[in-house]
Amino acid sequence: MKANLDVLPLDSWVNTGGKPLIIAGPCSAETEEQVLETARGIAKNGFAHILRAGVWKPRTRPGSFEGKGEEALPWLQKAKAETGLKTAVEVATPQHVELALKYGVDVLWIGARTTVNPFNVQDLADSLKGVDIPVLIKNPVNPDLALWLGAFERIAGAGINKMGAIHRGFSNAQETKYRNSPMWQIAVEFKTFFPQIPMIGDPSHMAGKRAYLAELTQRAMDLNYDGLIIESHRNPDEAWSDASQQLTPDALAEMLKSIEFRNATY
Ligand code: PEP
Ligand code: MN
Repeated sequence: MKANLDVLPLDSWVNTGGKPLIIAGPCSAETEEQVLETARGIAKNGFAHILRAGVWKPRTRPGSFEGKGEEALPWLQKAKAETGLKTAVEVATPQHVELALKYGVDVLWIGARTTVNPFNVQDLADSLKGVDIPVLIKNPVNPDLALWLGAFERIAGAGINKMGAIHRGFSNAQETKYRNSPMWQIAVEFKTFFPQIPMIGDPSHMAGKRAYLAELTQRAMDLNYDGLIIESHRNPDEAWSDASQQLTPDALAEMLKSIEFRNATY
């Protein structure tokens, strides 16, 4: 196993002033108004550095909202121009990468259903050759550390040197408290292989329910995670995807105030 990747520190591509990186925004970009209003609420509260919004949505089963695609990318550009927040979207194919770059997206992330497939990850890596953009990689849906590590090796092999790991938990065969079991030890073990890669907790996709966000966020911070990615929507109950786990920007700000951070307050 290759133990060392050529990865730059987090503060080489986002200035958080030493605080944990906060990425917030809706599960999905639904309408221009929804993206802009949510971005304004997040910017007003001042806690976030990057706006997330899914434009291509990998739905486990067909028949639900699969994302607005290219049409939504100018909404993110507008949100960035108005609020100054950097933007991040999920990419799953080389075509997604091409479009995200065309519309000036700042950060890309690879979703849990893509990390699981080395062919897909290699296609993405090939499409990123010669591109300078931060790439975050979610853990695969199944608790297979080697697949997660391998995805980093493939993307780093394309010359990407700004990277982060997103820990979003692992699928369950049975009903459990959380939508995806955190299995924290897998993220801890990840750090023994790639200590230089920032670890970003995704309490939203672990929890599945608003009520569990604070405890999972606290746990990630207690484990010294470098950042968080949390879903936030202007009207969570009406969200077109992941309605039960999203918080309004104001509620997210309140939740973050309840967390004990090592060296920062929000
Ligand atoms: C998401 O971030 O909205 C998403 C689809 O996440 P995951 O890949 O973790 O399921
Ligand atoms: Mn989601």
